[in-house]
Amino acid sequence: MFMLIKSYNSLREAEEEVAPITKNCITCAMEIPVDAKKCGYCGETHF
Ligand SMILES: [Zn+2]
Repeated sequence: MFMLIKSYNSLREAEEEVAPITKNCITCAMEIPVDAKKCGYCGETHF
């Protein structure tokens, strides 16, 4: 069981190392492009 969790975490880390293309808006928590200067859902501009 432990090995299963460990390999799962490794897989997750590997995925996250691939250049992220989205981030979560701090206000509405929607996924928006990392390069966005303004949230397309709520208009938040402070990231
Ligand atoms: Zn937002």
